[in-house]
Amino acid sequence: MTHAIRIHETGGPEKLVWEAVSLPAPKAGEALVRHKAVGLNFIDVYFRTGLYKAPSLPAIIGMEGAGVVEAVGEGVTEVAVGDRVAYATAPIGAYAEARCIKADRLVKMPDGISFEQAAGMMLQGMTAAFLIKKCYPVQAGQTVLVHAAAGGVGLIMCQWLKHLGATVIGVVSTEEKAALARAHGAAHALLTKDDVPARVKEITGGAMLPVVFDSVGRDSFNVSLDCLAPFGMMVSYGNASGPVAIPDLGILAAKGSLFVTRPTLATYTAKREDLIGRAHDLFEVVGSGAVKIRVNQTFALKDAADAHRALEARQTTGSTVLLP
Ligand code: NDP
Repeated sequence: MTHAIRIHETGGPEKLVWEAVSLPAPKAGEALVRHKAVGLNFIDVYFRTGLYKAPSLPAIIGMEGAGVVEAVGEGVTEVAVGDRVAYATAPIGAYAEARCIKADRLVKMPDGISFEQAAGMMLQGMTAAFLIKKCYPVQAGQTVLVHAAAGGVGLIMCQWLKHLGATVIGVVSTEEKAALARAHGAAHALLTKDDVPARVKEITGGAMLPVVFDSVGRDSFNVSLDCLAPFGMMVSYGNASGPVAIPDLGILAAKGSLFVTRPTLATYTAKREDLIGRAHDLFEVVGSGAVKIRVNQTFALKDAADAHRALEARQTTGSTVLLP
């Protein structure tokens, strides 16, 4: 047996229940990982509320963890007992003291990275990696906009984009978050209450932007389109304020032959070589010090409900880690 946070039905944070669950031996191709730290991500909220569907209920939610391999099933070659590993692209099930997981979703952690750092960066950091290196490869000298710039993905994006030589315009909800975004590489930090397209016009001398990275979704979609230059790319990668209904495609024509994509980390890391590639991209910028992982909140795993309340109330900045 082990302990885990499960949902028996979807709903508010109170649906997250700490309970004893069975822990089977690893099957062929699986490893049993004893978690040292578990990552909190906005996607956990979507599974808890039912915006994203768990395959069945009750379900252990959570996508990201770091720990030690305790046992392996038949045929496992990627990891061995005793390895320090982390993951972020497995099926849900991370909110547990230990779990079995497909070994080909595990990444060995470099020595210099702690379990807390790993649980605070794998999902958000590999997301930043695929967004700015694969989905829309950002070039030095470009000016780009990042929503929720003081959040988990946001703080990593600000630092990494600056490192690539881009000028970052961050958008956040408070002055405190604006200061944090600036301290992490945003050249400009706008507030959600500002006239964001007008400010972007001023900053770019009327040129507008080649790309916007939008994780807020419903509340920011139209604002983001209005910030783009002709042929610009709208990267809509999250729904913190609610999902975006697919608009009349004519809007893309009217606003200048725009492109829209709705990418996911899952697709961009479905092949193991891509998973390892994005993890190594991340380890490189963290290892060199170009990107610092800010674990600004930690909670006991059994108090995951409090962590969800803080995340949804926009009280967190940077990454949040749950400790088993
Ligand atoms: P964050 O730390 O960024 O937290 C979410 C932030 O969104 C808040 O802090 C808040 O920042 C902003 N926000 C805007 N509107 C709302 C709202 N109505 N309710 C709550 N927050 C709101 O979370 P993560 O770093 O974990 O994730 C960021 C986003 O990236 C999420 O939308 C997530 O789904 C997405 N994502 C997508 C992936 C993909 O594969 N497509 C992978 C990983 C993450 P502020 O107060 O400054 O507005």
